[in-house]
Amino acid sequence: MENFNDVLKECGFAFKKQWGQNFLSDGNLLRAIVSDGGVDEHTTVLEIGAGAGALTRALSEKAKRVVSYEIDKSLQPVLARTLSGCENVEVVFRDFAREDLAALEKELGEYVVVANLPYYITTPLVMRFVEESAKCKRITVMVQEEVAERLCAHAGTAEYGAVTAALARRGTAKIARRVPKEAFHPRPQVDSAVVTVDFGEGGFEVKSPRAYRETVRCAFQSRRKTLENNLMNCFRLPRERARELLAKAGIQEGVRGETLTPQELANLSDILCEIIK
Ligand code: SAM
Repeated sequence: MENFNDVLKECGFAFKKQWGQNFLSDGNLLRAIVSDGGVDEHTTVLEIGAGAGALTRALSEKAKRVVSYEIDKSLQPVLARTLSGCENVEVVFRDFAREDLAALEKELGEYVVVANLPYYITTPLVMRFVEESAKCKRITVMVQEEVAERLCAHAGTAEYGAVTAALARRGTAKIARRVPKEAFHPRPQVDSAVVTVDFGEGGFEVKSPRAYRETVRCAFQSRRKTLENNLMNCFRLPRERARELLAKAGIQEGVRGETLTPQELANLSDILCEIIK
């Protein structure tokens, strides 16, 4: 097989910062990420950000099928070479953010996501799967170390936030491995980590996903204010009504939203369904 860096050079490829083009090439690391993704011969993988195809190729060796999105059409000649012979791979040269997820899921059936993407789009991407996906079983994403800490944080810590709580409704997030910046070419400024989110494992039902979303947004709206004050502001409630709703959810007066576990936020959201239409 050809060397990825040689192919990039021979194709005259110019790395583009705006698309976060920091590529991996270490075979051991790539195989470890495939294993983090829980990929086997029955798995359909949705990869986002093919790059030079190093991870795509490693996925293709284990998966049943790989559908890989890449925004940069100038990688077409590169991927034609690096993925030659990978019969189970389809590369789609489009911006994944503009894809219709429901239509794609119809076509894919059950699938897992594996993505090493520009950091600024990873959190919105994860949130999109959390809020919209029906057939995604697991997400495995490379993120900045500090984002990884946030995704996997526990209630009451500084890292715990709206994203952590939103994610917890669907499943469990774990840091699978740390990846030093030296593993990428070109080298980014910060170290990374691979995070897996298992949909279904540890997730919970709520009466209304929308009410849960609004409750979480409200709980973290102003971290220094009490939950009672945030409720009054977010939902334009008089103090007495905010107190009554909190009491109904079994939440003590004076607590701050960031100290509530996702499950406690879920109980509150089931009560707030009354006022969130
Ligand atoms: N998976 C490869 C690897 O691990 O070496 C490449 C990773 S690189 C960090 C991210 C890749 O995602 C780049 O090739 C970039 O062009 C692509 N990309 C960025 N934004 C994208 C989007 N919205 N849709 C599809 N691909 C995107």
